[in-house]
Amino acid sequence: MKILIAEDDLVQRRFLQVMLSRSGRDVIAVSDGQQAWDMLQTEHIRMVITDWIMPEVSGLELVRKIRSSAFPNYTYLILLTSKDTRNSIVEGLEAGADDYLTKPFDKDELMARLSIGERILELETRLQEMAIHDSLTGLLNRRALYAKIQVEMNRATRELSPMSMIMLDIDHFKSINDRYGHQAGDKALCMTSEVLLQNKRAYDAIGRWGGEEFLVLLPRTGMTDARTVAERFRSAIASARLSLADGRGVRFTVSLGVSSVMDGHIDIEALIHQADAAMYLAKHQGRNRICLADENFLNKSG
Ligand code: GH3
Ligand code: MG
Ligand code: MG
Ligand code: MG
Repeated sequence: MKILIAEDDLVQRRFLQVMLSRSGRDVIAVSDGQQAWDMLQTEHIRMVITDWIMPEVSGLELVRKIRSSAFPNYTYLILLTSKDTRNSIVEGLEAGADDYLTKPFDKDELMARLSIGERILELETRLQEMAIHDSLTGLLNRRALYAKIQVEMNRATRELSPMSMIMLDIDHFKSINDRYGHQAGDKALCMTSEVLLQNKRAYDAIGRWGGEEFLVLLPRTGMTDARTVAERFRSAIASARLSLADGRGVRFTVSLGVSSVMDGHIDIEALIHQADAAMYLAKHQGRNRICLADENFLNKSG
């Protein structure tokens, strides 16, 4: 984990830098609060150890600035200062520091307190991961995939590049649940997710869109290539066999709908809706097949 040290005293700064680097941390050291603030704008830093009294921007001001800013991650702040009165400690903590150590400091104590901060940041990472992933399959959840679609759609519009989507729904999934139990149904969902992951390309993003519906986003991909990817998904799932705990094997199929836009000039809802409508068409035509959203396909081939 990257740690930023803000300390104007050269000897102390070096001492901290060497000590933390030796413990395996990635350390950046600066000599005042302004430099620290500038560094935070460009580097992704979540842990800051700052002195209080420094030229330009003081440690206390730095703490206040960080707390009123909107970095995507929490910044854990340790004030390390010679200001050792009770009033200063209260003022520092009230300004937003997570911890407060007075100089001269004990090396082991600083390391132990640093570990507390790192534990909290790891917890934040875990919570963020949980917030964007589906707990059963580990795929992106609907909200996270939607956010990715927005980013890719903006890029597609900017670069006038194509983009496609594949909506995939397990056929007669209810009957897997009914016949073999809910756990078998869950296993079928996990197997589907694994097959999709194995057959996707590096830039494709996969999300669990609903119960037994998956959405695959294919940036910089036109309809023809998207159909090829969809066919790979379809045949891989149709030829796979899900083995249940009791030794029984289950086979199932999926229906897929593909939608595509040539230059990003379509709204996201419309593109999703087209993939969904094409998927339903595949259901009506007998399942275990792929349908293309015609309007766009005509645009492309015509
Ligand atoms: P179709 O071929 O028309 O898609 O038929 P289907 O049975 O797959 O479709 P339907 O929408 O009727 O049923 C979907 C079922 O998926 C109903 C619901 O109980 C089940 N389901 C949704 N989420 C989960 C889940 O997380 N685990 C399991 N085991 N079942 C789920
Ligand atoms: Mg259904
Ligand atoms: Mg279904
Ligand atoms: Mg469904």
